Amino acid sequence: MARERISLKSNSDIIAMREAGLITAHALAAVKAAIKPGVSTLELDAIAESTIRSFGASSNFKLVGGYHHTICSSINDEVVHGIPSIDRVLVAGDIISVDCGAITPAGWNGDAAFSMVVPGGDPEIMASRQALSDACEASLWAGMAALATAKRLNEVGRAVEKTIRKHGRYGILQDYIGHGVGRSMHEDPAVFNYQTRDLGPVVESGLVIAIEPMITGGKEQVKILSDDWTVSTKDGSDGAHWEHTVARHKDGIWVLTAEDGGLAGLAPHGIIPVPLNP
Ligand code: MG
Ligand code: MG
Repeated sequence: MARERISLKSNSDIIAMREAGLITAHALAAVKAAIKPGVSTLELDAIAESTIRSFGASSNFKLVGGYHHTICSSINDEVVHGIPSIDRVLVAGDIISVDCGAITPAGWNGDAAFSMVVPGGDPEIMASRQALSDACEASLWAGMAALATAKRLNEVGRAVEKTIRKHGRYGILQDYIGHGVGRSMHEDPAVFNYQTRDLGPVVESGLVIAIEPMITGGKEQVKILSDDWTVSTKDGSDGAHWEHTVARHKDGIWVLTAEDGGLAGLAPHGIIPVPLNP
């Protein structure tokens, strides 16, 4: 594996990154509140954009070459990188994954995502989609809990994979993985969602990463649609995607894109997040 260049963050860097994380969290909360049948993904995109701007920050997705939106919105068999459109209108029972990020004027990034089932659909289909989302979310929190004590980074991927396997026969995307976050939205190191032979880099204080499991209700194989962005399952099964930006510092971990810093999500793992004070 090629040697990675990991830029470790100081405590004051992490405190500055919390601002980017919280703005990202607020944008996603506003989108989540607006999700209902009949809403287009372009409307959700506008809500994320105006929320980020209202805090004086900007969309970092728009800084990605060739991408012109604030969120990615991926519905049903789409797993990630779906493009918002006025023509994509949510239907009761759809599963939608929304990915979003903010960059502050100081130049720090946040990156987070959630999946949700649109209310009011067929109960059986909704239950299986909710189970898929729950498995993905549980694996994210297990990965973050692992980061709290990890000596090598792939302890995160091992915990993510183990949790997904425990929940059912789901596919884990192989070519789409988490990453470092900082002055760029995507930095080293690679953060796998599965066990790898290489244990990965040594986990040091100042490591800030996005952990983002992407799973399917069937097989792991995906294809890119003709829009050159949307990643959808080959077998037509549903996709789910959950993500948080999390910092490991000398006193513990802090989930920068969770409004409560990760308190509720980490509690079942016996981990208490440790916020840093300015
Ligand atoms: Mg993301
Ligand atoms: Mg990411």
